Amino acid sequence: MTEDDKRPPGEDDLRARLSAEQFQVTQNKGTERAFTGRYLHNKDLGVYTCVVCDAELFASDTKYDSGSGWPSFWLPLAGDSVVTHRDVSHGMVRTEVTCAHCGAHLGHVFQDGPQPTGLRYCVNSAALEFKKQD
Ligand SMILES: [Zn+2]
Repeated sequence: MTEDDKRPPGEDDLRARLSAEQFQVTQNKGTERAFTGRYLHNKDLGVYTCVVCDAELFASDTKYDSGSGWPSFWLPLAGDSVVTHRDVSHGMVRTEVTCAHCGAHLGHVFQDGPQPTGLRYCVNSAALEFKKQD
């Protein structure tokens, strides 16, 4: 293995592989416009993975319609698949959610979700891929 293999995918690789919106959301903490994401109304059974590194992040059975305009989940697939950070950008105090594996920005988590967690993981469709269950 060379030194190059150990480094995470470079910016040029990602720009080539991701759409402009996927790159902006995951690498520059962008936000897709509400009600435009391709997975907002997806109700198929399956697993949502990170568009950058393919890590499994959320399962369809914790997805719900929050009315926010972005795909919303009340629980990550595994407790350590996403990490949270305090985010004070844009004049708000929010909790940012990133992929634990590659650090891609996914969205934010809020405290107004349904039980049993009371959490709302508000995630950009552009940060996700969906693997439909057979
Ligand atoms: Zn990732």
